[in-house]
Amino acid sequence: MGMGQDNLNKVNQVMEASVVIVGGGPAGLAAAVRLYDRGVTDLLILERENKLGGILKQCIHDGFGLTRFGESLSGPEYADRFIQEVKQRNIRFITDTTVIQITPDHDVYAAHRDGLLHVRARAVILAMGCRERTRGALAIPGTRPAGVLTAGVAQAYMNLQNRMPGKKIVILGSGDIGLIMARRLTLEGAHVLGVFEINPIPSGLPRNIQQCLNDYGIPLFLSHTVTDIRGTDRLQEVVVSKVDEKLQPLAGTEKVYACDTLILSVGLIPENELTIGAGAELCPQTGGAYVDEWYQTTVPGLFAAGNVLHVHDLVDFVSLEAETMAEGVVRYLNGALPNASIALRCGKNIGHTVPQKISGTENVVVTLRVRAPQKDAEIVIRQGKAMVARKRVRNALPANMIEIHLLKDQLTGGQDLEVSVND
Ligand SMILES: Cc1cc2nc3c(=O)[nH]c(=O)nc-3n(C[C@H](O)[C@H](O)[C@H](O)COP(=O)(O)OP(=O)(O)OC[C@H]3O[C@@H](n4cnc5c(N)ncnc54)[C@H](O)[C@@H]3O)c2cc1C
Repeated sequence: MGMGQDNLNKVNQVMEASVVIVGGGPAGLAAAVRLYDRGVTDLLILERENKLGGILKQCIHDGFGLTRFGESLSGPEYADRFIQEVKQRNIRFITDTTVIQITPDHDVYAAHRDGLLHVRARAVILAMGCRERTRGALAIPGTRPAGVLTAGVAQAYMNLQNRMPGKKIVILGSGDIGLIMARRLTLEGAHVLGVFEINPIPSGLPRNIQQCLNDYGIPLFLSHTVTDIRGTDRLQEVVVSKVDEKLQPLAGTEKVYACDTLILSVGLIPENELTIGAGAELCPQTGGAYVDEWYQTTVPGLFAAGNVLHVHDLVDFVSLEAETMAEGVVRYLNGALPNASIALRCGKNIGHTVPQKISGTENVVVTLRVRAPQKDAEIVIRQGKAMVARKRVRNALPANMIEIHLLKDQLTGGQDLEVSVND
């Protein structure tokens, strides 16, 4: 466990660190490296799994790093670039350690097999990533057989444990992880009967629809959902129905698919329990914390980046966001973080923005998602009647994160901003 081992004898003692980073995935690692390079060397990364790297450990396909490194890497390769940087700098980390509480005063409590760990920090970074929505969240009727699992769990079985989850597969939801698993299962000899999506548009990236479904002849059924799960010990069949424009199943459209596995790829939710516990306000649209342009939450000295803040489409943007956040942490430690009081409000066809408020003293990259697909979209930011930023997007899709640059010189004062899509 490298440096991690050295820290174990400190369990049951109160430790100190300038910054505690909760989660050793791409967000936590990128933040640690950037902080160290800015002179904040007294860092501690706490990771609940037995290795650093986060969810990338199980993403063995390539396509990571095109933006950050200009080359196509597998998930483990991408993570390893940052893990090596952390190790070269001797940044402290402890694995097999789950953070269970963070106080607004930056006391961090974590459970380790040898006892309770208590760290006092000047600032805390939330980098816990997200988790998958499960069958419970969807309330699908039917029995409770084995063989119903989320796409990330199926991916972990296959890529980390070398186990096939099943042979005849139905996938519910067209999220990127489900699409990637459709291809992976097919390559390993399973028969993927189809991907069924309740919405009239796919939720995964267009490149994944092409490369994971179309290239392998796997059918995609839009406006369809699973309405019954059948089987005693093991899944035997699922019933799939068409839905109307209100997403309600249409009677008479039921079709039975014999299968042994149902894979759910129906969305990710930021891991926000610690965020709430620390007293940070949540943004209902993202499910993560409200943050300013330096990714500081509403609790001073508590920062968040990566999937714990908002679900990202590509990991490259997670790393870039975490690096910007690290610059904010440095400013905070130096007492030089500007006060952010200008709110960004979501107008027409905008699902969410990150950040949700800014100081107006810096140029800011605002990240957003549209609610509904729109061709030739003009995204605009207005302050009162003045248009302060605009961007044309040829094909704006909810699956894609969109960035728009907001220049401080364009702002006309301290009034709130509205982000919307022009027709
Ligand atoms: C299954 C899957 C497939 C993906 N495929 C792609 C892809 O093909 N291309 C792409 O660009 N992106 C892909 N992504 C997205 C990309 O992996 C994520 O954007 C990225 O991993 C998010 O980084 P993160 O650091 O925010 O979170 P994570 O990678 O999830 O890391 C969070 C870390 O925090 C730890 N943690 C959580 N809670 C605690 C706690 N209480 N105490 C201590 N540690 C804790 C976790 O164990 C984990 O190591 C995929 C994501 C998933 C879920």
